[in-house]
Amino acid sequence: MNVLETKNLQKIYGKQDNIVKAVNNIDLTVKEKEFVAIVGTSGSGKSTLLHLLGGLDKPTDGKVYIENKDIYSMKKEQLAIFRRRKIGFVFQFFNLVPVLNAYENITLPTELDGKKVDKQYVDDLMNTLNIYSRKEHLPSALSGGQQQRVAIARALASKPSIILADEPTGNLDSRTSEEVLGLLKLSVKKYHQTLVMITHDDYIAQMADRIIRIEDGKITEGGR
Ligand code: ADP
Ligand code: ADP
Repeated sequence: MNVLETKNLQKIYGKQDNIVKAVNNIDLTVKEKEFVAIVGTSGSGKSTLLHLLGGLDKPTDGKVYIENKDIYSMKKEQLAIFRRRKIGFVFQFFNLVPVLNAYENITLPTELDGKKVDKQYVDDLMNTLNIYSRKEHLPSALSGGQQQRVAIARALASKPSIILADEPTGNLDSRTSEEVLGLLKLSVKKYHQTLVMITHDDYIAQMADRIIRIEDGKITEGGR
């Protein structure tokens, strides 16, 4: 099954003689449980594309389907609920709540959603990401790599089908980047999730099952 699909996806910024086709007619399919890296230089359209895939922006034209659902045909509220249920986001900056410990940071979105936390699953997740021993530590007592692993556990806690990661290693040194991405990959494979990651780092991208290269808003490699 294609868990994610786009058709003629377009995002145009500006108007008249000053337009930028940030995403220029992208047709993309991502299969269930696939790990895809989207690479490209700065300004190639990676962030714009990821935002469109995650329902965080509105395309100028074209469609995004998640589990065969046309996400931009939904009403705003409906899309927000769908997004919380289906997608987990990981960003370059960890954005942990400083006064909450690791466990509380991980379960916060689920709690705010009024859902029951699956404690056993969260413990398993923390073990998989090798942060179980840091369960009660505040973010300030954790290394950068550990903080990002907490942010990853937070994204996975609601059991989404897709993880969208925007430069998840952008704030880490190269050794830590490799370790964190290795654990992110291990986790998504273990819990049968699909991972779409953007990175400008070709070395990190090598860890993906497939690399999609974009230039000037178009796919130049790895599309299908
Ligand atoms: P990347 O993530 O690969 O660095 P972006 O998606 O951020 O690329 O940007 C793609 C292009 O769209 C760039 O030319 C950028 O300047 C332009 N762009 C991005 N966001 C906006 C915006 N809000 N308004 C106008 N232009 C934008
Ligand atoms: P990792 O590669 O596992 O992310 P580091 O090698 O950066 O971790 O850190 C080693 C240990 O030092 C970690 O177990 C972490 O708990 C501790 N540590 C790192 N940064 C801090 C900090 N700012 N305050 C307290 N302890 C820290």
